[in-house]
Amino acid sequence: MKKKLILLVLAASMIFVGCGKTDSTSNGKYTPGTYTGVADGFGGKLELEVELSEDSIKRVEIKSHSETEGIGTKAIESLPEEIVSKNSADVEVVSGATMTSKAIIAAVNDAMKDFVSKKETVALKDGVYTGEATGYQGPLKVEVTISGEKITEVKVLDNVETVGIGSKALDALSKSIVENNSVGVDTLSGATASSKAIISAVTNAIEVAGGDISKYNTKVEMEKGEDQTVTSDVVIVGAGGAGITAAIEAKLQGADNVVVIEKMDITGGNTRMSGGEFAAPGNWVQKKEGITDDSVDQYYKDILEGGYNIGNPDLVRIIAENALPTAEWLRDECKVEFKDEQSWYGGHKVARTLWPKGDGPQYMDTLEEKARGLGVEFYLQTEAEELITDESGKVVGVNATHKNGAKYTFNANNGVILATGGFGKNVEMRQKYNKNWPTLDESIPSTNSPAITGDGIEMGQGVGANVIDMEHIQLYPVNNPATGNYYYIDYARLNSTALLVNKEGKRFVNEKGTRDVISDATLKQTDSKVYEIIDAGVVKEQQLYEKYAAEIEQAQKQGVLKIGTLEEVCEYFGVPTDSVKETIEHYNGMVEAGKDEDFGRTENFNKIGEGPYFMFSSVVSVHHTMGGLQIDESARVLNKDGNAIAGLYAAGEVTGGIHGGNRLGSVAVPDTAIFGRIAAQSCVNKK
Ligand SMILES: Cc1cc2nc3c(=O)[nH]c(=O)nc-3n(C[C@H](O)[C@H](O)[C@H](O)COP(=O)(O)OP(=O)(O)OC[C@H]3O[C@@H](n4cnc5c(N)ncnc54)[C@H](O)[C@@H]3O)c2cc1C
Repeated sequence: MKKKLILLVLAASMIFVGCGKTDSTSNGKYTPGTYTGVADGFGGKLELEVELSEDSIKRVEIKSHSETEGIGTKAIESLPEEIVSKNSADVEVVSGATMTSKAIIAAVNDAMKDFVSKKETVALKDGVYTGEATGYQGPLKVEVTISGEKITEVKVLDNVETVGIGSKALDALSKSIVENNSVGVDTLSGATASSKAIISAVTNAIEVAGGDISKYNTKVEMEKGEDQTVTSDVVIVGAGGAGITAAIEAKLQGADNVVVIEKMDITGGNTRMSGGEFAAPGNWVQKKEGITDDSVDQYYKDILEGGYNIGNPDLVRIIAENALPTAEWLRDECKVEFKDEQSWYGGHKVARTLWPKGDGPQYMDTLEEKARGLGVEFYLQTEAEELITDESGKVVGVNATHKNGAKYTFNANNGVILATGGFGKNVEMRQKYNKNWPTLDESIPSTNSPAITGDGIEMGQGVGANVIDMEHIQLYPVNNPATGNYYYIDYARLNSTALLVNKEGKRFVNEKGTRDVISDATLKQTDSKVYEIIDAGVVKEQQLYEKYAAEIEQAQKQGVLKIGTLEEVCEYFGVPTDSVKETIEHYNGMVEAGKDEDFGRTENFNKIGEGPYFMFSSVVSVHHTMGGLQIDESARVLNKDGNAIAGLYAAGEVTGGIHGGNRLGSVAVPDTAIFGRIAAQSCVNKK
């Protein structure tokens, strides 16, 4: 026994011979101990512990993360073990979980930063180098020009980032990386994933060329700005759909100075992320398509009934009556271009939804251009914090802070319009007001922009405003579990024929039901996760490959979409094929018999045909908050006694009382434009 021990010690000491010393207390490669490393994962910070012996990685343990269950967690389950067994963080990423894999590798390197041997680097020769990374929507390629060891140009080559959102980050960051000769630049809020992607791609180009990235990643700090006081007639908080429409209307109504305060780097909020779809009864596309059985009254009824008759009928009537004239105003006055087609959302009795060309991004760019052309002043990167009142309680301005730390005081001669959107991204507020869903904690993602945190609601409450319908929070039923965003390929379900099945392979709801009904049913299924199945005929008819190629590619990489035979797609997700086959046969039988005996589906009640099939996993996501500041028909904010607060107006998702218990698809954008204009008219005319 003793002999054996001596031999082991000998063997160990032989291993140590030749190891470079890093620390006076250690003879090995590492100083033994437990170290913490942190990196940004897909869903947020990922923290882990690395235990080192003198010459090996003994243990890698993930301590906390916000990665997506079933996707990122695949990397979390396998990579730590692989790193230990290879005794190196130089491992392959897990397919479908690239961002999480990279985060684990980066966090291990962070924990071991004192020991990681630096790669040999060279001074970069003048030349053009290419780099790659994964963006928000798919692969991104850049060309980096180095001259005199400086980055002189960053050219974005192939990319599929969203035009008008991610593309803005690519433009802005390629400039600021060159200006600062550094990848240590700030990301563009509202387009963070695309910003990180261009930073990674430039880093990749430099590293692949053998350059020393530490020479190019000095953190670029913003210089502190000077405090300012700005006085104008109308001050609008929030540059989304409601805010910019209000700004345009205020100018058209004759206001001399109109200021819009926006906390993000780019305008648009949720409106920029949206399809910009706009339901208007009696519209010009309906006429072209021969739809004559629509009316203001029918629209009014649909909105009220869709919202379970909780909405304020007077406010709903204003939307119904003004939808078409406002769509015409957007088209004729603001030059918003609409497609020649329209869509049909659940709860609307007829197809009446106009669709702007280029969706929300182009809609917002067009409105912003119009507003700037009229002389509206924008203060971006400026976060409004509180309303200023005079001794009578009248709202006379807004206090705000710029990203550079400067304090701004905005004085408003006429009044302030709050247009800050809802609170879909504020988990604390969701939990505080939620009464209808089992939970709305961080386990439920949101389709919203990160900016949508209920600021205007709280600012209004700060001066005594009443809030209404706060418990009514809408979940969107079909979303990508990897991102929480809705799938564009789900238009197949909305506009045509698709089935939803649960983990047991059974249908569980009318696929054409309203958002809340499908969401409620989804939350009752195993793991609150379900699957959508689309046949090859519908894929073709809906032109999914032509329209959504980037999403299809990305979703496959994320491991949330599988295309193949029924056996292949079911096996991929671990859903029993026999059960799905039975479900389809039974459903097709009901189609033949002309009645959905199980869930009462009537729209697009067509058979599921041949493959190859699309099957994608889906979770619910917080989409719209129906509650907010109570307003009257003039968009004046009311206090708890039902009286208007002088000088304070509100429009858009920051308000409550219109959509009741459930907002119908494509009625929010009309709401923003209609009440945005009304708020501006009231404010300019000091109503
Ligand atoms: C993915 C998605 C798709 C959608 N598609 C449609 C659709 O096709 N049709 C439809 O009718 N509805 C749709 N909706 C709903 C609709 O887009 C929103 O309800 C609507 O755009 C809200 O507009 P808004 O102007 O009230 O707020 P937003 O457009 O969200 O704008 C609010 C702005 O206020 C800014 N802000 C917030 N707090 C502050 C602060 N403290 N200081 C300064 N600025 C601040 C934000 O940064 C943001 O720019 C969709 C929603 C989502 C999330």
